[in-house]
Amino acid sequence: MKFASRLVSFDPAPGDRFRPISTPIYQTATFEQEHADSFGEYDYSRSGNPTRAVLEKHLALLENGTRGFCFSSGMAAISTVTKLLRSGDEILADSDLYGGTCRLFSTVLERNGIVARYADACDPDRFEQQITPRTRLIHVESPTNPLLRVIDLRRMADLAHANGALLCVDNSTMSPYLQNPLDLEADISLHSATKFLCGHHDVTAGTVVVKDEKLAEQIYFVQNAEGNALAPFDCFLLLRGMKTLKLRLDGQQRNARTIAKFLASHKDIKRVYFPGLSEDPGYELQRSQARGSGAVLSFTTGSIEVSKAIAEHAELFRITVSFGSVNSSISLPGCMSHASVPPAVLAQRELPLDLVRISVGIEDEDDLVADLDRAIHLANAGTSIAAGAETLR
Ligand code: PLP
Repeated sequence: MKFASRLVSFDPAPGDRFRPISTPIYQTATFEQEHADSFGEYDYSRSGNPTRAVLEKHLALLENGTRGFCFSSGMAAISTVTKLLRSGDEILADSDLYGGTCRLFSTVLERNGIVARYADACDPDRFEQQITPRTRLIHVESPTNPLLRVIDLRRMADLAHANGALLCVDNSTMSPYLQNPLDLEADISLHSATKFLCGHHDVTAGTVVVKDEKLAEQIYFVQNAEGNALAPFDCFLLLRGMKTLKLRLDGQQRNARTIAKFLASHKDIKRVYFPGLSEDPGYELQRSQARGSGAVLSFTTGSIEVSKAIAEHAELFRITVSFGSVNSSISLPGCMSHASVPPAVLAQRELPLDLVRISVGIEDEDDLVADLDRAIHLANAGTSIAAGAETLR
């Protein structure tokens, strides 16, 4: 079956004698057992719940994996993966990464003796030089958040496996519709399901999908031991949102391409970061490993004040963190989603302070272009552009 059919064709309620067409919310913490000395299929919702089981199986199939796991947030999913490591192990991560991931790696994990280091994965040869005998996990996003840089995932998998490490790919900017990291030999495909999988910004959730059964057992062990699985109602909302993933993303991608071209030819925009533009350095690689360029893009203006004013003048693009919703949104990563990056880590990466990130929704493309055009015009009319962009370091 093609992806559009697979999204909606699954057993929504295995074994349910009423044969519902949508998955029931099994809002229960415990399940009565027939015998005192053995358990049935479900006993306690932290360990397993029928609503969650449907979602986890569905996700595993969509990501071409064998086992899926759902968590209370994307960060809970990432945190679970890091529990595969022990004190003394190292994570080597790409230097362009969601701010919260950096915060987890460089503050929380550090307290437990796990060292996180960062290097530019767009330059695999130099990235490889940073691998040490202690490197157990390579963690990358592709395209990255917020600079939309494209990383060669097959190459990363080769590097990881040649050095006895796992490759974990945060696939949040793509979704399983556009990219399947497990097909590119990654060991773990992970999502902030809060983004495109949910699509409506009404659930905070995270997912992990793997192929290897031993790895699956380890992830399940942590999920059950830590109790960070997604609650039944949120599983229901995610199942419901995912049914329209393709429809939503097809429209969002169309709009994003139009907006990227509009911004790239606008005299007041300095640079557009979007792998769907043929002049983007990641264009060819993106085409070779994904089936689209997504609906998140960033741009710079040359002035923090102008960038801030654009965000504040825009109306359809509302100022919010996160991305992937049916509604368009706009943010300044330097002061919002990436403000949590510890200063020492920030000093190693380049994040233009005037960077504006937008997530394109399903509104009419003419309205979206007009909204940005107006916001850019007002921002420039009211703000004198400072010479040269400043860089957050
Ligand atoms: N990964 C990426 C690429 C993100 O952008 C985010 C959040 O913005 C996360 C992970 C964390 O996900 P959550 O906010 O669902 O915990």
